[in-house]
This record gives sequence, structure tokens and C-alpha cells, in this order.
Amino acid sequence: MEQCASVEREVDKVLQKFLTYGQHCEQSLEELLHYVGQLRAELANAALQGTPLSATLSLVMSQCCRKIKDTVQKLASDHKDIHSSVSRVGKAIDRNFDSEICGVVSDAVWDSGEKQQQILQMAIVEHLYQQGMLSVAEELCQESTLNVDLDFKQPFLELNRILEALHEQDLGPALEWAVSHRQRLLELNSSLEFKLHRLHFIRLLAGGPEKQLEALNYARHFQPFARLHQREIQVMMGSLVYLRLGLEKSPYCHLLDNSHWAEICETFTRDACSLLGLSVESPLSVSFASGCVALPVLMNIKAVIEQRQCTGVWSHKDELPIEIELGMKCWYHSVFACPILRQQTSDSNPPIKLICGHVISRDALNKLINGGKLKCPYCPMEQNPADGKRIIF
Ligand SMILES: [Zn+2]
Repeated sequence: MEQCASVEREVDKVLQKFLTYGQHCEQSLEELLHYVGQLRAELANAALQGTPLSATLSLVMSQCCRKIKDTVQKLASDHKDIHSSVSRVGKAIDRNFDSEICGVVSDAVWDSGEKQQQILQMAIVEHLYQQGMLSVAEELCQESTLNVDLDFKQPFLELNRILEALHEQDLGPALEWAVSHRQRLLELNSSLEFKLHRLHFIRLLAGGPEKQLEALNYARHFQPFARLHQREIQVMMGSLVYLRLGLEKSPYCHLLDNSHWAEICETFTRDACSLLGLSVESPLSVSFASGCVALPVLMNIKAVIEQRQCTGVWSHKDELPIEIELGMKCWYHSVFACPILRQQTSDSNPPIKLICGHVISRDALNKLINGGKLKCPYCPMEQNPADGKRIIF
């Protein structure tokens, strides 16, 4: 954090200088314009009277030219001064942050073949779509001649259209979507539709007593959710009592809280993504966040390896020299480590369930076969190795 603060200090200096320069620049130019304007009027006046240019006026004119030149020169040199402050920011970044990260990444990563480059571009495009930056994504597709078919784009376009409406506090498109996906949302245990109806109801309540009838009529939408959200529905019905008094002065004022809108955007994104089979965060942002956690640890390890002069320890193949804890957020799949070989199972060496129920990796199973028979290393049940079944977590 200290590093960030010291870079920020330099950035603040530049911004401050820039602001003062801008004001000073405008003021000097304004003065100059005024001065030139006056002179022009005087010259025009002299021309009108048909008198030749007086010595005083020509002196003033040459003074004016000098003044213009001086001002421009001064402004240019002040501008140059800002350049040096900007470059100080760059130096502060170099000084405070480690820029040399190539050492902890396999060189092969940067040898981008066409296929890798396409994968990277695709990841960026997906991220842009996910962030709702549709035009930027389109532009990148065009410039990189990446062919993204409509089926891929469609869910993102729909999500963004609905989210944009929600940000404008327009519930219509989201409600329409939730109603048409009701069954699948219920299977996901989602309360999205209920929350949308609730928000609509609250909005009617905010309209005061004249909206009471409309609100009561709307309450029939809660009927399918009566069992699951009984308590919340009771609260909303209770609030009707205070409608005449004004909800904002009642014990139900929390219903009008603006945080419900932020919450509904979050619920919609989460549930819609899971229904459409999309991840809430793009693979690119997950990779980036993981990298931010992992890089400092890797840099430290690299320094230690170099210090102890055992560079052969980490050959940069496909594995890291140590396990790096990325936190629960980054746990996506269950992993199975073979209890016999103490190795994580993989596609080429998958976990196999024996008929006795014990699970070992296929490599371990192959090693344990003796005379066409296999004896489970846990419960010494003898069995046919071919009876083992691959299991998938
Ligand atoms: Zn067994």
C-alpha cells in the first residue's frame, strides 16, 4: 500500500500542476486577446480617420508582438515543466513496483502461436461482452478478425439489455425475463421473480395513498411465492397500514431503501448467469485476480531459489514450485489426490472406484495388478481390475 501511496503522491502533484497551468494559461491568453483587441480597435480607428500610422502606435504594435512572443514562450516552457512531473510518476512506478515478472512465467506463454493468440483475444472479447462494453468488443472482433457467432453473443446482449434497464430502475424487461424462465429459476432456488415483484410493489407504495388500490391488486403476484416468502409478504402487507401517514416516517421505511436496487442487479446477474451457463465473473477477470494474489508469492519464491542457487528446482513446465492459496472464491472443482501415489488425479490418470468402494488413481491400480488380479490396498478384497469404474467429480 505504501508503494501505491507514493505513486499517488506524484500523480497528485501532476494533477495540481496541470490545474494551475490550465488556469494560468487561460488567464494569460485572455489578457493577450484583450490587449490585441484594443490595439486592433485603435488601428481601425486610425484607418478610418485616414491618418498615417503614428510613431506611438507603431511602438505599441511592436511591443504587442514582443508580448505575444514572450507569453507563448512562457507557456511552452511551463508546459515542458509538466512533462518532467509526468516522467517522475513513471519513475515512481518503476521504483516502487517490480516490473520484472517474466522470470516467474514460462517463456512459452509469450511465444504466442496463432491459436494461443486467438484464445487470448476470445477471453478479452468475452470479458468485454460480460462488462457490457459491447461496442468495444465488436471493434476488437473486427480488428483481430475474430469470428464470434451470434449464439455466443446473444446471452450477453440480453443480459446487458435487462441490466441497463434495471440500472434505470425499469423493472419491465427483467420481470418479463423472470416470468418466462420461472420454472428453471425455481429449480435453481432463485428468488429473483419474487424480489422483482416486491420491488414493483414497493414502488407503488412509494406513490402514496392514491396508489393503494393498485398496490393491493398487484399483491396477487405474490401468491405463487406465499409459502417460500411468507414473512416478507407479511411485512409488505403490514406496511399498507402506514400508507396514509407516509412510509418514510413509518417503521417500514427500510422498504424504500435504495440498496434494494443494487441488490436486484446483483441477484439478476447471479441467477441469470447461472441459468444461462455463464460465469458471473469472466474467466479473464478471475485469471487476473488470481494472478494478483499469486505473483507476489511466486516472486518471493523465485528470489529464494536464486539466493540458494538451486535454479533447477523450478523448471517452469506446467506446474508451480509451491501450492498457492487463492482463497475460497477460486475453488471451482473438487480435486482427488490418489492415496497411494499421493498425486492429484488428472484426465490421463483419473480416479477409479473399485468394487469395494475404495478409490485410487488408475496409475496406482495398474501398479497394483498382480497376476491379472487386484487386491484393494485398504480392505484386502481381491477383484478383477477391469471392474473398476472411472469416477468424475
Ligand atoms: Zn477396498
